[in-house]
Amino acid sequence: MQLDQNPFRAMELLEQMGEIEERLRGLDCGSCGAPSCHALAEDVVRGYAVEDSCIYVLQEKLDAVMRSMLEKHDLNAKQKEGAAP
Ligand code: SF4
Repeated sequence: MQLDQNPFRAMELLEQMGEIEERLRGLDCGSCGAPSCHALAEDVVRGYAVEDSCIYVLQEKLDAVMRSMLEKHDLNAKQKEGAAP
């Protein structure tokens, strides 16, 4: 696996790969289309995929968005209750 012809750039990409891999689940389930989490991390640093291709990473982000929306909804509801005469 050669990430870049420039050895310094290759080292940077290798480091980025490691950081990305730490955020992935390590299940090697293949649901992202890559055969392993390591392969997806390599695809990401090469620009062929995004980290959200991992269904677990995507699910975490969607859960965070949903929680944020529910908190705002609850806050709006409380503000409306407080504003009611
Ligand atoms: S979907 Fe996520 S956990 Fe499964 S192989 Fe791809 S990166 Fe790994």
